[in-house]
Amino acid sequence: MEKKKYHVVVIGGGPGGYVAAIKAAQSGRSVALVEKSFLGGTCLNVGCIPTKTLLANAQVMHKIKMAEEYGITTGPVTFDFLKMKTRKDSVVEKIRKSLGGLLQANKITIFAGKAEFLSPTEIKVVGDDNCILEAENTILATGSEPLDIGAFPCDHTRIMNSTSILEITALPKSLAIIGGGYIGCEFASLYAEFGVKVTILEALPSILSLQGKAIAEALTAAFQKQGIDIQTNVFVEGIEHAGEGVSVKLKDREPLQADLALVAVGRKVSSEHLGLEKAGVKAGDKGEILVNEKMQTNVPGIYAIGDVTGRFLLAHVASHQGIVAASNILGQELHMHYNAVPAVIFTTPEIATVGMTFDEAKERGYNAGIGKFPFGALGKSIATIDTDGFAEVIVDKGTGQILGAQVVGHEASTLIAEMALAINNELTVDCVFDTIHAHPTVAEAWMEAALLANDTPIHMPPKRRA
Ligand SMILES: Cc1cc2nc3c(=O)[nH]c(=O)nc-3n(C[C@H](O)[C@H](O)[C@H](O)COP(=O)(O)OP(=O)(O)OC[C@H]3O[C@@H](n4cnc5c(N)ncnc54)[C@H](O)[C@@H]3O)c2cc1C
Repeated sequence: MEKKKYHVVVIGGGPGGYVAAIKAAQSGRSVALVEKSFLGGTCLNVGCIPTKTLLANAQVMHKIKMAEEYGITTGPVTFDFLKMKTRKDSVVEKIRKSLGGLLQANKITIFAGKAEFLSPTEIKVVGDDNCILEAENTILATGSEPLDIGAFPCDHTRIMNSTSILEITALPKSLAIIGGGYIGCEFASLYAEFGVKVTILEALPSILSLQGKAIAEALTAAFQKQGIDIQTNVFVEGIEHAGEGVSVKLKDREPLQADLALVAVGRKVSSEHLGLEKAGVKAGDKGEILVNEKMQTNVPGIYAIGDVTGRFLLAHVASHQGIVAASNILGQELHMHYNAVPAVIFTTPEIATVGMTFDEAKERGYNAGIGKFPFGALGKSIATIDTDGFAEVIVDKGTGQILGAQVVGHEASTLIAEMALAINNELTVDCVFDTIHAHPTVAEAWMEAALLANDTPIHMPPKRRA
């Protein structure tokens, strides 16, 4: 097999890998990127982008349903789900093409094939391209895959996972979603908006249990209003084909019948078949590649980033880790820290969080305070009829430092950026309320929440004095 030598070899072309490759290539070093499937990875092809493209349709539908409230009378509203799916495919295709161009413009050599270590510095590529790459440095960015459960494996005809459900061209009448995490909830929001009878089956006491009580309660209430059935503390024992659909067997409960089942119970890291043992790279119990804050593995010159490291499983975290790994390779020392990682759930209403929840802050020993401002009290939200939800900031009462922020409601995904900036730069509440926020905008909710956390509210009644 032909041998080729590179300063940096990146394995995996998702948001972790391609960003790392571009950063490394900016220094003029030789960079190769190996991808066994499509450039853009999970995020572009079967994750963030396709789901958000479909969810954009749901948002339009949601507004159309509210048309009367705006004084607009519509005729009967119909939709074409196949057209939505086709638009989703073309969005993905368009971004994938431009990503290929971007990598080429950065003089990154792309190898199409599956990569596997032969030794700590040699990587075999098998696929459309077949060769051996000699790497001075390697960045592992092989991502993750949907977790399949032995008791009810996906058949991708009626028992789907988050990848195969993106390929359906017609809507089911009913959908059972196993797993009430953020992926399950986003799909619930999408399908419910188009009239599918959605049931979420969650083993824990609430959906979105990782996001804290306030968020879980707010989304549960919103989902129930939208007719989504949420069953918690329920254990799925199996899923069988029954009639034209599926029967979901539940422990100590009647089985649930639905046209389709979506299994959204988590992801497993893609570190098998990488030949880690031949390189001597250590992985944890779940196959996650172990790294330090510089994204270095235990083997000098080998780095790992993104989902394959098993933390956060978010595209923007993967990209940031990619910058950190590439910078360290280039001799510009950088460290990852995770105190200001924004996370967004694109349900209706949107949800976004960054930093600590109130309970986490208390658990960590902070004298925590909270400022919570409802969108129902904000001029812009009243004007646009987007009054559901709230923005809240968690602060250290002693210093005023912002420790965390959560927002539920319209534009939450965009709003969270201000708090990520604040927390990342250790700002205090006065930095927020001393900053002039344009009026009328939903961003004013942060100013009001910060004022509330400071006990000096302007657009809310003052606390009663004793
Ligand atoms: C339905 C869904 C919705 C999501 N929505 C969001 C969202 O809104 N926001 C967000 O931040 N995150 C979201 N995510 C998560 C996000 O997609 C991942 O966190 C992100 O893609 C991780 O990036 P990565 O580069 O680590 O890995 P990946 O994107 O998984 O890329 C890894 C790449 O490596 C390739 N590869 C694997 N093994 C090899 C090998 N041996 N040789 C060569 N190539 C290999 C794979 O083919 C793949 O292309 C979503 C995920 C899903 C499933």
